[in-house]
Amino acid sequence: MGIADVVETIGSTASGVADKAKNISEVSNLKRKIAYEEERIVEIFADIGKSLYENRNQDMSAFAPLCDDIDVRKRRIKRMRLELNEIRGVKLCETCGTEVDEKYQYCGVCGAKLPSSREVNVSESNSSDVDNLFSSSTVTE
Ligand SMILES: [Zn+2]
Repeated sequence: MGIADVVETIGSTASGVADKAKNISEVSNLKRKIAYEEERIVEIFADIGKSLYENRNQDMSAFAPLCDDIDVRKRRIKRMRLELNEIRGVKLCETCGTEVDEKYQYCGVCGAKLPSSREVNVSESNSSDVDNLFSSSTVTE
């Protein structure tokens, strides 16, 4: 059993290192995507403003698609931020916006109860599609 324990330890250490490297690239990837979406939002705001300036009498409903686009991008940013926090092991207090270590249940600044980090889990990207495919295709009655 001694050898099995050692093998187990080595295995988990190696995968831990791999996870860390993966996390670092994932964090920079997410940060880049968030920055891109934020830039797009600023551009869309500018488009709306310019369009309104050039034609002051135009129907506000003309801006609905642009506003929807902003909403979509904002939701995307929110989701990516959650993902980012998850990777970094922190969560945001919904009341005051403070970053708190995910092991805490209450915000140290305002005392608000924090959402369980597993509730806002964004781990569907971690579950392998191959596994899903396999399990669904093998369930044949
Ligand atoms: Zn707080």
